[in-house]
Amino acid sequence: MPFLKPICIATWNFPNASLRAGEMLAAGVSALDAVEQGVMVEEANVKNTTVGKGGAPDREGNVTLDACIMSPDGNAGAVVYLKHNTHAVSVARKVMEETPHVMLAGEGADQFAKAQGFEREELLTEASEKAYQEWLKKKEYKPIINIENHDTIGMLCIDQKGDLAGACTSSGLSYKMNGRVGDSPIIGAGLFLDNEVGGAVATGMGEAILKTVGSFLIVELMRQGKSPQEACEAAIMRIIKQNPNYSDFQAAFIAINKKGEIGSYCIQKGFSYMKYQDGTNKNIQSKFYL
Ligand code: ASP
Repeated sequence: MPFLKPICIATWNFPNASLRAGEMLAAGVSALDAVEQGVMVEEANVKNTTVGKGGAPDREGNVTLDACIMSPDGNAGAVVYLKHNTHAVSVARKVMEETPHVMLAGEGADQFAKAQGFEREELLTEASEKAYQEWLKKKEYKPIINIENHDTIGMLCIDQKGDLAGACTSSGLSYKMNGRVGDSPIIGAGLFLDNEVGGAVATGMGEAILKTVGSFLIVELMRQGKSPQEACEAAIMRIIKQNPNYSDFQAAFIAINKKGEIGSYCIQKGFSYMKYQDGTNKNIQSKFYL
């Protein structure tokens, strides 16, 4: 039986992104197109310093983007260390649709984007350059994701046919080591879905999420009968168990199952997510461990 009420959920408080996707779903657009267009809103938002254009650079001043996308048929595409295109999610979608591969990295990803007709752009804005110059004065390397410095957008949509798609896009940890890649573009860690079961996306300390393959874990727990909320809590508890310093960083998940039930959980207070359904676009505070 088709799922009658399309729904969009997305990490953090980005109402314009969930609105774009939610309205597209209401108009009958596919979940795959809706997640891509939805997260593109934040990629283009230069005020968001951890997604797309305007993202904080690495320690050497390069803005490098990571993104992935998954379609209802289980297909996936990703790019890592993309340097010259705002819409990393769209390049990831092209990897999924136009190549036999799942992931392209660095120079190869840039070359591929160019060959696909994406125009080369400068991703470092005046504001992020200025913040970087400030950071250079002390060069304090604190690879810790706390409440303030992460706004990766991960989005999951169910369309009018009942199909599920997801996307995740990020410039990663601010002032990261050159070459560092987090969880966001990694299928299973930053994003995973199974159109028969549900999906999950992550934000926060990528290293902790990578080591527990959190989004895959959540989908598998939902497959075994856990609710999205129970599954998100189990994934966060896995991170807590593995990281004695868990109180120093943030990690968060949101999840949805095929009935449209949603869940979310994080370590620290302060994480919220967007939900668009039935014409209502709202921001919801997540439950947290600490
Ligand atoms: N998860 C991202 C990363 O580690 C950061 C974030 O959520 O802002 O790259």
